[in-house]
Amino acid sequence: MKKIQMVDLQTQYLQIKQEIDSGIEQVIRSAAFVKGEQVTNFQHHLEAYTGAKHIIPVGNGTDALQIALMALGLQRGDEVITPTFTFIATAEVVALLGLTPVVVDVDWDTMNMSVEAVERAITPRTKAIVPVHLFGQCANMEAIMAIAKRKGLYVVEDACQAIGSVYTFSDGKKAQAGTMGEIGCTSFFPSKNLGCYGDGGALFTNDDDLAAKIRSIANHGMEIRYHHDRVGVNSRLDTIQAAVLDAKLPHLDEYTSARQMAAKYYDNAFKDEKHILIPGHDTRSTHVYHQYTLRIVKEDKTPDKELRDALKAYLTDKQIPAMIYYPIPLHLQKAYQDSRYKKGDFPVAERLADCVLSLPMHTCLDEEQLEYITRSIKEGIRELTK
Ligand SMILES: *Cc1c(COP(=O)(O)O)cnc(C)c1O
Repeated sequence: MKKIQMVDLQTQYLQIKQEIDSGIEQVIRSAAFVKGEQVTNFQHHLEAYTGAKHIIPVGNGTDALQIALMALGLQRGDEVITPTFTFIATAEVVALLGLTPVVVDVDWDTMNMSVEAVERAITPRTKAIVPVHLFGQCANMEAIMAIAKRKGLYVVEDACQAIGSVYTFSDGKKAQAGTMGEIGCTSFFPSKNLGCYGDGGALFTNDDDLAAKIRSIANHGMEIRYHHDRVGVNSRLDTIQAAVLDAKLPHLDEYTSARQMAAKYYDNAFKDEKHILIPGHDTRSTHVYHQYTLRIVKEDKTPDKELRDALKAYLTDKQIPAMIYYPIPLHLQKAYQDSRYKKGDFPVAERLADCVLSLPMHTCLDEEQLEYITRSIKEGIRELTK
């Protein structure tokens, strides 16, 4: 059996080696390492794929989030609502810009931002909501967009884990992750669903003025060379990374299907296990399974941290990697200590942190590996709960 990895980028590379190698070679031959034509080509191809009117490639997903908040003109002290159960980048850029992160709890089943919690967290100083489409499934965008409209708030989608996920509104309209709010942000970090061979990211927007502002901010705040109209940053997608992404984009749908097939295998294997809860599905969103994340529970379906940790160690012995995304919610992180928050304030996120376990998930998992992983997990649970 092939060695099991959380993410297998080597096998994926070998499947499309020719396309990748020739793309990279062309960049090296042209020596247009920055702002080469491949960046614009990829931008247009991704616009066509996602339906976003404007895509602005940048250096990474964290930059995309920061630039989004800068482009909206938020001021020091403005409040930005974001889930407490996510990767740190979402709140980090809020804090870096001197804005006030207001964290909210998530739903136990989908692990996405709780809409009731968003509603409760809104104050006169709230300016924006940043939903995270966690693990590859869109947050409840219908309700979030409705709240934002009613309260006059911006929505910046953190779609770093959810490129290609499709959301269906109740009127039948469909939209891809990142194209529903004022701005969407994504990451091309190598292990993301559309990953390059280094760092990369992009902003999505359907608004012409915002697009122009975003381009300017990402380029030192200038529109005309050496005329700096606003404070900006330097954030670019390297041409070599754009060439890699342009080679991979035509395969994204088949990559997503491969993830979904692996997820279905896991779902079927675990759905009747009494110590395992499979990921909850929001039927309005497709799930592109950036992560496949189990909750390990007691028979009464409350978190079983001890069993989760023991199972992770058991799997390590069987050469099966598994990861805890995320072990500590934002409001309990040292750097984000805040007198407004204490342990117990966001009970769902805290419970999730105690019981989540993400399994190997990538585009090259084969049946032999899936069979071994699922069998080992079931055997492990049986042994550890004897
Ligand atoms: C990966 C990720 C980011 C940051 O992307 P980088 O490209 O690593 O900067 C932000 N938010 C979420 C939810 C992510 O998963």
